[in-house]
Amino acid sequence: MMYENEAPALTREEVEVKRKALKSLVPRSSSDQSASGLSPSDLSALEQSSSNQFLADHPLRLHVLASGSKGNASAIEVSSTGQFFVIDCGISCKRFLQALSDCHLSLENLMGIVVTHEHTDHTKGLPVLCKTLTKQGRGVALYVNDQVRQNSKEICSLADNDDISVDIQHFDEHSQLSFASMQIYPFATSHDAASSFGFRVEYDNDALGFVTDTGILNDEMMEALRDVRILGLESNHDASLLKQGPYPFVVKQRIASDSGHLSNAQASDALDQLLSPRLESVVALHISESNNTYRLPAETLHNVLVRNAHPGQAFCGFQNRSVSL
Ligand SMILES: [Zn+2]
Ligand SMILES: [Zn+2]
Repeated sequence: MMYENEAPALTREEVEVKRKALKSLVPRSSSDQSASGLSPSDLSALEQSSSNQFLADHPLRLHVLASGSKGNASAIEVSSTGQFFVIDCGISCKRFLQALSDCHLSLENLMGIVVTHEHTDHTKGLPVLCKTLTKQGRGVALYVNDQVRQNSKEICSLADNDDISVDIQHFDEHSQLSFASMQIYPFATSHDAASSFGFRVEYDNDALGFVTDTGILNDEMMEALRDVRILGLESNHDASLLKQGPYPFVVKQRIASDSGHLSNAQASDALDQLLSPRLESVVALHISESNNTYRLPAETLHNVLVRNAHPGQAFCGFQNRSVSL
C-alpha cells in the first residue's frame, strides 16, 4: 500500500536506468554479437528475459496527474517512446503542465485528449491547454462524445474559437480509438452526465483499465476492466462519512445513487471480482476531500489484496500531487 509520502512503484528514472543497463548488457548489432561470445540463441534468450523483465512487462504507464472532486487529469504513456494521451483536463493548464513535467512527460509527445464527460472537474483546463498547444503551432486531437460536447461550455467555446486549432472527433461505446499504437476501447458508465465513459487501453500485450464517475459497475463495465495489469478505479466516498458529511441531503443522495460515484465498499467489491494473475497495481481515483480520506480507499483496496493473498499493490491518486504507475 502506498500513502502520499511514499515513492511510486517504478519511477521513470528507474525505467531509464534499467533501459540503459539493458542496452549495455545486450549487444544489438551482429558484430557486437560475435564480440560478446554469445550465440544468437543465447542472445535472444537473454534479450527476451531481460527486456521482458524491464520493458515488455511494463509497456504502459498510468500517470494520475490530479484526481478528485476539484479536478481530474491522467496520462497513459507508452513507456518505450514517451508518447502519451490524456484523459480529461479538469485542472488549470499551469497545473497540468507542471504535473506533466513532474511525471517526466514532454508536451511534444502528447498524441491526443479524450474526455470522459462534461462536468467541469474534467474539462475546465481544456480551453487554455488547447490555446497553449495552438500557440506552439500544434493541432490538438480532442475525442469527445457528441452529447458531452453539446453540454460542455468549455468544449463549445473551443469549437467556436477560430484562434484555437482543435480537431474534435466523436466517440461512443462502440468506437475504438488509437494513439501511438495504443488501442482504446471506451465503455459507457452510469453517471448524471449527458454521457460518460471509462476506458480499456491495450498495447503490446499489456492492458490497463480506467473508470471514474460511475454510480455502479455493471457486467459490461466489469468485462472491460477484467484481466488488466493496471487498474484505475474510482473510490470516491466512504458511505458513513458521506452520511455525516457537510453536503445537502439531495447532493448526498446524488453521490450515493446509481448515477453518482463509487464508494470505497463498491470499489472493494469490484476489485474482489477483478483480481487476476496479471493485475499488479490498483489505484483509487476521484477520492472526495469532504467524504473520504486518502488512507481509507488505499487501505480498503489493500485489504482485498491481502485477503486474497494477491501480490498486487494498492495506491491512491491525489488532488494536488501526481502519482505514476
Ligand atoms: Zn462527473
Ligand atoms: Zn468528476
